[in-house]
Amino acid sequence: MGRLRPPEGMELPGPVRLWVESDLLPDGSFGREYLAVAGGRLFVLSEREGKAEKRLELSLEAIRSIEFERVFGGGVLRAETEEGSIELIRFTNLKLPAFAEAAKILEGWVKGEEIEPELPEERGCPRCGLPLEEGTKVCPACLPKSRTLIRLISYLRPYWKQALCLSTLTFLTTALGLLPPYLNKPLMDVVLAPKGVPRPLDERLKLLGLLVLVLLASRALMSALGAAQGWLSAWLGNRITHDIRCQLYQHLQFLSLGFFDKRQIGTVISRVNQDTGRLHEFLVWGSQDLAINLLLIVGIGVMLFVMNWKLALLVLVPAPAVAVVSRLFWRRVRVYIRRFFHRWSRLNAVLSESLRGIKVIKAFGQEAREIDRFKGSSGELAVTSVKAERAWAFMFSGMSFLITLGTMLVWLAGGRKVLFGEMSLGTLMAFLMYVGMFYRPVEAMSWLINFCSRSLTAAERVFEILDTRPEIQEAEDAIPMPRIEGEIEFRNVSFGYDKHKPVLKDVSFKVKPGEMVGLVGHSGAGKTTTVNLICRFYDPDEGEILIDGVPLRKIRIEDLRRQIGIVPQDTFLFTGTIAENIAYAKPGATREEIIRAAKIANAHEFIIKKPDGYETVVGEGGEGLSAGERQRIAIARAILADPRILILDEATSQVDVETERKIQEAIERLVKGRTTIAIAHRLSTLRNADRLIVLKEGRIAEVGTHDELLRRRGEFHRLVKAYREISKIRAVER
Ligand code: ADP
Ligand code: MG
Repeated sequence: MGRLRPPEGMELPGPVRLWVESDLLPDGSFGREYLAVAGGRLFVLSEREGKAEKRLELSLEAIRSIEFERVFGGGVLRAETEEGSIELIRFTNLKLPAFAEAAKILEGWVKGEEIEPELPEERGCPRCGLPLEEGTKVCPACLPKSRTLIRLISYLRPYWKQALCLSTLTFLTTALGLLPPYLNKPLMDVVLAPKGVPRPLDERLKLLGLLVLVLLASRALMSALGAAQGWLSAWLGNRITHDIRCQLYQHLQFLSLGFFDKRQIGTVISRVNQDTGRLHEFLVWGSQDLAINLLLIVGIGVMLFVMNWKLALLVLVPAPAVAVVSRLFWRRVRVYIRRFFHRWSRLNAVLSESLRGIKVIKAFGQEAREIDRFKGSSGELAVTSVKAERAWAFMFSGMSFLITLGTMLVWLAGGRKVLFGEMSLGTLMAFLMYVGMFYRPVEAMSWLINFCSRSLTAAERVFEILDTRPEIQEAEDAIPMPRIEGEIEFRNVSFGYDKHKPVLKDVSFKVKPGEMVGLVGHSGAGKTTTVNLICRFYDPDEGEILIDGVPLRKIRIEDLRRQIGIVPQDTFLFTGTIAENIAYAKPGATREEIIRAAKIANAHEFIIKKPDGYETVVGEGGEGLSAGERQRIAIARAILADPRILILDEATSQVDVETERKIQEAIERLVKGRTTIAIAHRLSTLRNADRLIVLKEGRIAEVGTHDELLRRRGEFHRLVKAYREISKIRAVER
């Protein structure tokens, strides 16, 4: 949601009422488009060469509804009109919140409501317009790099002794590196090409030996110190990377589900792996090189001026030109670098998503399409990379040439001085050696800055996540609840994953402690969402949820989650043995406890039939087990946790009727003394529930016992009938 500014050179009818900027073009490539509403009409504007052009124009009256659809990596806004559906605009995840808000407002206007857009704060960076992620104000392009650097350095605090030692070593090696050219002077002027009357030969020979010995010793010392320095810096860099990586992972573990809903897992993984990897390179190599080169530049500069300040000034003649060239260059390259990162993470996301969904791809024979998609992403990355490298190559050659000019000047002026006897040959030689040494770190600096800038961007992105606060926060005055009785109350709860699209609407109900309540409704009615709210995976947008009369927001999260056992709709097992998976919530469980839980869940029999029994290793996500077997392991897991509130979300949807009946009996025994919320596909499963809550499109349609509801011939009756029809069809098919 942006500033309400009419675009330059564009006449829109009346004042602009809504103005949203997108970052994708209709073909899915990056670019800028705008959605605008002015004078009762909706416009989509494309930006070409800095000017906005109308791409689409629609009267608000012609629109029947606005559809907001989430697609891979972003979303699409569509308008439903008499003539059919029109795609309005596409955008990436970064722009999702703005367009979600805009969709809500538009939908209101289309329906004739008079809502004025409440413009949230400008989310893009006020300086460069780069869109910022939710929850952070840091702009990777504009943030002063020094601040990131200082923050990185703060990680050194626990290791200050090692850091101090490292600095000393660096300083010493650099200083030793400056010695050889200095020794060059006596080597020339006294030993090899003395002026005037030379000393006796044997004395000169002895001096030669001595000087070479000193050179050798200094080199040997330098190598030893350098090795120690490299080792220490690797140690320190790895320590800090490890610290940051763990801190990041820890932070991710505590971020709310909403954070992950909004992002592709691939991008998050690349932050943990690649960005910390870059950080590692920087901390181990980059920072050292940077320090050494800076020291060298200062040290050599001082030497040059001490030896001959006039000649030293000549060395600096090309400096202003170099500065101008590199400034111009950086302005261009920064854009490429940013784009490069953006595309890199997109490529990663494509990769990780498609590999995760490889079964679906194969099943529907969509390999070619996925390959095309990957090629597209990879190609974009390559193009950006080439542009960056090209700019880089030009700049590198240009700089080298400019710098050589300085050396030429020194040769010319210094050579004249030697010829006129104003300067000894040794001094000139030493001077030229220093000049040669001087440019190397200067050149190195230019690529090091590039390298460091990338690393600092990576660091910023890591810090960006570290700065994201979880949406689900523990209250400061959180109430410990060591034992929950199990009363659950919803008071006028409304909630939507996207704020503009409520999933639960004004839901109120109360579950008594120890009661077993069934949640029924069509798929998509909001059953799982209700359960998600009880676990406090999300906070409701409106209304309140209470457990034992205490608002959920006030309960210590750990106490809450520990006493809720959930068998989720989509069972997830970790890599490890079956026993480990069952004991996931209670790592110290004995074998007897595990087997007891497995027996209740009707899993024991199939487990002992496996060659390795309870020690059978299951792959990632439960690979190697059938869906029904996985579900039974999940049930055993929940049983073993012995929760006060048990939630079964279609826990037996994947097992056959016979097994389900057995589990049912077991659960019947199990539910005694604890509150149970059961969601079941087969409505007969819920016959034993004390009460049933019927959800329809996010609202409570009916509440009552199984028989009551059947007699009432309402929504539940319809559901049962529909279910029977399906069963009949199945029976006939058989
Ligand atoms: P069900 O009654 O089948 O369990 P759910 O509670 O899972 O239904 O879903 C209710 C609605 O919320 C559906 O329209 C679904 O598309 C949507 N929804 C579920 N999870 C998410 C999510 N993580 N992000 C966005 N929308 C979601
Ligand atoms: Mg569900």
